[in-house]
Amino acid sequence: MKVKISAIERDHTDAGPGLRTEVFFYGCSKDCPGCQNKWTEDMPYIEVSTFKLARKVASLRNSNVSISGGEPFEQPVSLLSFLKWLRFWNRIRYFKKTHVLLYTGMTWEELGFMNFLSDKLVDKVQSQVNLIVVNPWEHLKSYKIVKDTCVGSWNQRAYEVVHRKPPILHEITVDGFGHLILDE
Ligand code: SF4
Repeated sequence: MKVKISAIERDHTDAGPGLRTEVFFYGCSKDCPGCQNKWTEDMPYIEVSTFKLARKVASLRNSNVSISGGEPFEQPVSLLSFLKWLRFWNRIRYFKKTHVLLYTGMTWEELGFMNFLSDKLVDKVQSQVNLIVVNPWEHLKSYKIVKDTCVGSWNQRAYEVVHRKPPILHEITVDGFGHLILDE
């Protein structure tokens, strides 16, 4: 199974709790004004097997991983495959637990429709992650980065996966300054 990515960056502090490796999936068909990740489409993509990508990401010292894009759900089967291999490599080879945050620019309505059409593929992805942030980023509604939070905009919502099968999600609160409060 292949996946198209734009980049892997280590030691991010603004893409979720703790120090994280961020994997940027390639491509997004939405064209949100001020999209902060347009650069991912301005460079050639790398096409790699999900098996090898997961092995590479697991070999980096951060066990926290954030996935953004582009739009990860534009490659949903590859996304699910990558997530499964990532847990496999972290558990079997490196003996560490993986904490995964997934950013998507899709709304719940769009995700629900995709889930309906794809034999619950969205549910399967959710059961592999710890946190999911939904809705497109709106630059006029952006707010500051603070320690142990992730960059976001007022319209975005963050959910913790509190039960895996079936996935049950709990919305994470946003404080009065618009900061996402993420429990580690
Ligand atoms: S959905 Fe996200 S990645 Fe896609 S254009 Fe909008 S802000 Fe950018």
